Amino acid sequence: MNEKPSQSSYDVVVVGGGAAGLAAGVALGRARRSVLVVDTGNPRNAPAHGVHNFLTRDGLDPRELQEIGAQEVRQYGGEVVRMSATGASRDEQGFSVDLQDGTVRARRLVVATGLVDQLPEITGLRNHWGRNVIHCPYCHGFEVADQAIGIVGTSAMSGHGAWLFRQWSADIVYFTHTGPELDETRRTQLLARGVRIVDGEIEEVLGDEELTGVRLADGTVVERQALVVAAPVRVNSPVLDALGLAKEPVVMGGVEIGDRYPSGQGGSTSIPGLFLAGNVTDPQAQVVTAAGAGLMAGATANMDLITAETAQAVADFSAR
Ligand SMILES: Cc1cc2nc3c(=O)[nH]c(=O)nc-3n(C[C@H](O)[C@H](O)[C@H](O)COP(=O)(O)OP(=O)(O)OC[C@H]3O[C@@H](n4cnc5c(N)ncnc54)[C@H](O)[C@@H]3O)c2cc1C
Repeated sequence: MNEKPSQSSYDVVVVGGGAAGLAAGVALGRARRSVLVVDTGNPRNAPAHGVHNFLTRDGLDPRELQEIGAQEVRQYGGEVVRMSATGASRDEQGFSVDLQDGTVRARRLVVATGLVDQLPEITGLRNHWGRNVIHCPYCHGFEVADQAIGIVGTSAMSGHGAWLFRQWSADIVYFTHTGPELDETRRTQLLARGVRIVDGEIEEVLGDEELTGVRLADGTVVERQALVVAAPVRVNSPVLDALGLAKEPVVMGGVEIGDRYPSGQGGSTSIPGLFLAGNVTDPQAQVVTAAGAGLMAGATANMDLITAETAQAVADFSAR
C-alpha cells in the first residue's frame, strides 16, 4: 500500500477499491495505463466472515480478497493508496480529484465507491450484521439453512424476503414490525408455505456472540437464530456530487429500495470521461458481478483514451 500517490497525474484515477474498483485497476494496469486506486478500505461486505458465490474464491475473507486485488493492481504497475477522495472538478484536460491529502490529475475517472445499507434502528441488531442479521439469501442463505429465521418487516420488500428465504428453511417467522400491511396475495402465499406471521414491533435483538431471539414491544420473546432485513441502499459520493451527477431512485417490483448514480454501457455516464462500476450504480451487483463491471469500466475508460489519442494523432498527421 503506497502512503500517498507517487505522481501528480495519472491516465486514470479509480475512486473506491472494492471488487469493482480493483478490477478496473487491474484492467487498466494490464492496458499499460498509469492508474491510481484511492480507497478508504471499508468494503460493504466487511462484516461477513466470507465471500460466497464468487467462483474459485468461495469463503474468502472480504478484506483478504481486497488485499489480493490490491496486490494484483500493483503487479501491473498500478498504485493503491488508503485515503478518501473528497471532491472533483472537470476541465478540458480531464479531472482534478481532491484527496484527503492533496490533489491529483486524471485524464479519465472511474468511481466505484459502493453503497451503504441503512439498517433499521433496533437495539442489538447492528452487532450481528453480516453474520446472523443478513439481507441476501445468495450471500448467506446456505449458512443459515434450516435455522429458525425471522424476517423483520420494514418495507414491502420484506414480504418478498420471507417468501424467498422459505427456500432455505421451513422455520420462518415474519415479524410485521414497522412494515406496511401484507397484501392478501402475499399473506396467503406465506401462510400456505408455513410461514408464521407475528404482529408487533421488535424492540431488541437478543444474544451476544450468537443471536438467540427478539423481544417485542409487548415483552414477548420469540426465539430465532437469524434475522433478515431489507435495508434501503443509499449511495453517497462527494466526488460524483461535486461533478454534478444526480442520483436516481431504484425501484424493484414497484417498491423504491434506495438510490444509485446512473450509468450506461461500460459504466459510461452523462459526464464525458467519467465511468461508474459496482454498487454505486448497480445495487444488485454481487462481488463477482461488481468485479465484472469494474473490468468493463476500466476497458471502456481505456477505449475512450485510445479514441482521443487516435483523434489527436490524426490531427497531427494531417497537419504535417
Ligand atoms: C453483510 C454483507 C455480506 C455480503 N456477502 C456477499 C457475498 O457473500 N457474496 C457476494 O457476492 N456479495 C456479497 N455482498 C455484496 C457485496 O458486498 C457487494 O456486491 C460488493 O461489495 C460490491 O463491490 P463494490 O466494489 O461495488 O463496493 P465495495 O465492495 O463496497 O467497495 C467500495 C470501496 O470504496 C471505498 N470508498 C467509499 N467511499 C470512498 C471515498 N470517498 N474515497 C475512497 N474510497 C471510498 C470503500 O471503503 C470500499 O473499500 C454482501 C453484502 C453485505 C452487506
